[in-house]
Amino acid sequence: MKLLEWQGRELFQRYGIPVPRGEVVDDPAAARRVAAGLGSAVVLKAQVPVGGRGKAGGIRIAPSPQEAERVAAELLGSEIKGIEVERLLVAEAVEIRAEHYLGITIDRARRTPVMIYSPEGGVEIEEVARIKPEAVAREHIPPLEGPSPFRLRRLFRIAPPGPRKDLSRIALKLYELFRDYEATLVEINPLAETPAGLLALDAKVIIDEDHSPDPKFAELGMVAGDPTERVAREAGFSYVRLEGDIGVIGNGAGLVMATLDLVSQAGGKPACFLDIGGGARAERVRAAVELVLGDERVRAVFVNVFGGITRCDEVARGLIEGAGGTRVPIVVRLTGTNEEEGRRILSQAGVRPVETMEEGAELVVSLAEEGR
Ligand code: GDP
Ligand code: MN
Repeated sequence: MKLLEWQGRELFQRYGIPVPRGEVVDDPAAARRVAAGLGSAVVLKAQVPVGGRGKAGGIRIAPSPQEAERVAAELLGSEIKGIEVERLLVAEAVEIRAEHYLGITIDRARRTPVMIYSPEGGVEIEEVARIKPEAVAREHIPPLEGPSPFRLRRLFRIAPPGPRKDLSRIALKLYELFRDYEATLVEINPLAETPAGLLALDAKVIIDEDHSPDPKFAELGMVAGDPTERVAREAGFSYVRLEGDIGVIGNGAGLVMATLDLVSQAGGKPACFLDIGGGARAERVRAAVELVLGDERVRAVFVNVFGGITRCDEVARGLIEGAGGTRVPIVVRLTGTNEEEGRRILSQAGVRPVETMEEGAELVVSLAEEGR
């Protein structure tokens, strides 16, 4: 889950990492008010989950509140790298004396976090590493040890002496955030030297999708990403958005993946992967079907359930409730415990289950084509 800049900034603030003053807005008049309140020139920053916004025209400076309103009107509703801008961060524009890079990610080969620093930030770190590798320092952080002083000294050896101490302080806080929020990446680029000291001018935070359930994530989930994914997460489904138009629901990740493969082989494009989990009751099946039908891209749905712990009659009942009145065709393959009863419930409601997965895949693909 990739957070938007303003969400990352909020985490930075919680951990005492200094950021410029600012607020998020979604209309031009508010941009003007915030700019007036800050009493300085401002930067207006498109809140889209992509990097390189600066180059793409998503970062603009406005010297006055009037200008802020005008620029905000231009940016809001426009597209940056194909993504519509719905929100802007309006922050005080600061004087930049130097741009550093500081990030933490996981070195999967070494199975430890690695801290990365460069005194030449502001541009993509991969680019710096390519053209000037000596300007990028890496330090592995053994999880049981944490970022001990000697490691930070080694990391910041290539830093100019002036901000070294502040860099170490910020690195410690960033590591805490990285660990507490189960991040796979945290990145400050640029971490700018300004007259007011070091300031994090950008915030990139990616949180592991399989993070442990904890209320501290809830407010982040509320605002991040695709609305269907959000609802799915709240319902406790394992859900992945895909690019096509056929909803795929099943129980067990292996079965759902096999179903995706069959749909693809039959020439269709799945719109999602949705695993309702084992032992699902009618209520969960209903929620899953409603969720997928709520996705306006979906032209047909394939429900593929193997009833082991999950009882087919429960699945059938939930399915009929969830589908209530929809015009989107639903193909069902249901085998296992209480199969007969499940099929009876389905046929009473006018839904004919298919016998095999292959048959179901062929059918759902042709139905989706008709609906296109
Ligand atoms: P990105 O392009 O998506 O990574 O967005 P950033 O937030 O990193 O902004 C891109 C660039 O805009 C930065 O590298 C800075 O050079 C510049 N920038 C951002 N905030 C300010 C600011 O407050 N003042 C000035 N002068 N430049 C800024
Ligand atoms: Mn940046």
